[in-house]
Amino acid sequence: MKNKMHAIVKEKPEYGAVYKEVEIPEIGPEQILIQVKSTSICGSDFHIYKWNKWAQDNIEPPQIMGHEVAGDVIEVGSRVQKVKKGDFVSSETHIPCGHCYQCETGQEHICRNMKILGVHQDGVFAEYAVLEEVDVWKTDPSINKDFASIQEPLGNAIDTILPGEVAGKDVLITGAGPVGLIAIAVANTFGAANILVSEPNEYRRNLSYEMGADHVVNPIEVNLLEAVQDIFGNKGVDFTAEMSGHPDAIRDGIKAVTPGGIVSLLGLPDDKLSLDLTNDIIFKNIKVVGITGRKMFSTWHIANNLLKNEKINLSPVITHKMPLKDFEKGMKLMEEGNCGKIILKP
Ligand code: NAD
Ligand code: ZN
Repeated sequence: MKNKMHAIVKEKPEYGAVYKEVEIPEIGPEQILIQVKSTSICGSDFHIYKWNKWAQDNIEPPQIMGHEVAGDVIEVGSRVQKVKKGDFVSSETHIPCGHCYQCETGQEHICRNMKILGVHQDGVFAEYAVLEEVDVWKTDPSINKDFASIQEPLGNAIDTILPGEVAGKDVLITGAGPVGLIAIAVANTFGAANILVSEPNEYRRNLSYEMGADHVVNPIEVNLLEAVQDIFGNKGVDFTAEMSGHPDAIRDGIKAVTPGGIVSLLGLPDDKLSLDLTNDIIFKNIKVVGITGRKMFSTWHIANNLLKNEKINLSPVITHKMPLKDFEKGMKLMEEGNCGKIILKP
C-alpha cells in the first residue's frame, strides 16, 4: 500500500482549509483503517471551515476535517472484533469514554467526556481514515455508498422524529436544512398523516416537497401560527420537530403544538432565548425533548433497516456530488444554503 494520501486539512487557526498530501495514518489496537468511498459535508464542517467561535474553542489545527463517512475496512487493530477486513462500514461520530455514569447506563451518546470524530481527532475527508472500534458501524453492503455516508444525519432525524409518535398525526417541521429535509422523509416513513414545513430558503422549500412535505411555508412571508390554524384548525399540530435553531421557529413551533402534544428540539440557537413556560409548556402539559446525536446503536439499526429495505427515499436530499479536491465549491454552496447534502468523493 502507498504511504501518502490526499486529505482536506484545517491547517491553521483561520478561515479556510487546504487539500494536500499527508501520511496515511497508523492504527492502534482498537482502531480500524478504512478506504473512504463517500463522505458528506455537515454544518459543523462548514463552521470549522469558517473558523467560528465554536470551532476556535474546539479544534486544534492541523487536523483532517469531516465525520460523515462510508468506506471499506482495509486494516483492523489487534484487539478489534466488531469488523474485519473487507467489511463495508460507517461510523458514529460521538466517541464515548466508556466509564462515566452515562456510558455505564447505556447512554453513550451523551457521554460526559465525549470526543468527536473530525473535531477532537483527525476526521474522514481523506482517501483513508481511522475509526474507533466503539464507533464503527457495519453497514449492509447493498446500501448505496452515498446513503451510507449520510446515515449519521439520518440518525439525528430519526431520533428527532421518534419521540413524536407521528403515526397518523399532524406534524410541523421548522427548518428544512439537510437534517430537516431528511426528517421530512423520516416522518413520512413513520406514518405522519399531514406534514407542514416552515423554511425561508426557496431552494429548500422546493426540496421539502420532494422529500414528502404536504404543505410548505415561508415564515418570513406568512405568519406560521396562522398557517397552522389554516391547515390544522384550532387543534394545532400534534408534534413539532424543531430543526432550525432560530428563536422564532422555536417559540412558534412550541406554540403550534396542541395541548398534550410533543416537541423535539434538535436545532441549536446561537444564544439563550426566553419562552413563555407557563402558557406554552406547563399549562399545555406538552412534552419537550432535547435531541443530541444518535442512540448507540439502536438508532443505527433503524437507519440501516430503513435503507436496506428501501423504506425511505433519500435521493432528493443528495443535491450535489463532487471530488474531494473541489470541497471549496461545496463550502460555498453551504454558505449560500442552496443545497441539501453535499457528497465528497475521494
Ligand atoms: P442548517 O443550518 O443547514 O439548517 C437550518 C435551516 O433552518 C436552514 O435551511 C434555514 O434557512 C432554516 N431557518 C432559518 N430560520 C428559520 C425560521 N425562522 N423558521 C424555519 N426555518 C428557518 O442546519 P442542519 O445541518 O440542517 O441542522 C439543523 C439544526 O440542527 C442546526 O441548528 C444544527 O446546528 C442542529 N444540529 C443539532 C444536532 C444535535 O445533535 N442536536 C445535530 C446536527 C445538527
Ligand atoms: Zn462516558
